[in-house]
Amino acid sequence: MAGYRGRIAPSPTGYLHLGHARTFLIAEQRARVAGGVLVLRDEDLDASRARPEYARAMLEDLAWLRIRWEEGPQVSGDEPGAFGPYRQSSRFTLYRKVIGDLQRNGWLYRCTCSRRDLASAARAPHAEDDDEPLYPGTCRDRGCVGEGALRFRVPEGEVVGFVDGGLGPQTFVAGRDFGDFVVERRDGVPSYQLACVADDFAMGITEVVRGRDLLRSTARQILLQRALAYPTPDYFHCALMVDAHGQRLAKRSDALSLRAMRERGVSAAEVRAMALGGTVR
Ligand code: GLU
Repeated sequence: MAGYRGRIAPSPTGYLHLGHARTFLIAEQRARVAGGVLVLRDEDLDASRARPEYARAMLEDLAWLRIRWEEGPQVSGDEPGAFGPYRQSSRFTLYRKVIGDLQRNGWLYRCTCSRRDLASAARAPHAEDDDEPLYPGTCRDRGCVGEGALRFRVPEGEVVGFVDGGLGPQTFVAGRDFGDFVVERRDGVPSYQLACVADDFAMGITEVVRGRDLLRSTARQILLQRALAYPTPDYFHCALMVDAHGQRLAKRSDALSLRAMRERGVSAAEVRAMALGGTVR
């Protein structure tokens, strides 16, 4: 049996906030309790949004919080670990190979729908926390060629069930809870779903700890793992941070960035307690 390998996977598209702190602290705790290894993967996939100063800040903020990871980029600049590079922008060769594997087995099709087509045709996202609307399948059987995204043809009606370490049994149905999703964007950039599955497999990750807003992404990723004959890791979805009234925090709340809190004089211990408690006071 291989040992526990967990990961934290921040995207350097802004400053880390209390919600990230919560997920990453839980991820670290789980790795420590299991006597395992924690990997940091810099998810700087999207060059139009990722910025080096955010990548630097996220390492500093995590170190300030006293989160420790054994593999991946460090504040000091070296990158321990045998599964690197740990920055997604340096891993495109792997993603291309995995996209090729899916393509050869008939899982993908070209979608030439414009942004406007998608906006008018797509039904609203199923859940308020899902970021990818249900694609109505316009290009599924059209044999589109030329410029366009590559979509994964989800097996209509296939049940994706798993027992979540935090939330218990989960069930999703392909084609109902989510539709054919993008694995490579029109501009050639692999999607989050694709890169995440490729990396979690290549880095030998045994448990994925993430926020519960990503449950449907997990279901999509399990379908990709099945298509690629990869093992499915364990999953642990964390409850999201809420305010004193039980309302979920807005995605980007600058006042709750770790930087801003630190500048206001909030200590790392206080941030840890608040994040693990799950409520902003
Ligand atoms: N980079 C993603 C995020 O920050 C990672 C999510 C995940 O797969 O854990 O939301």
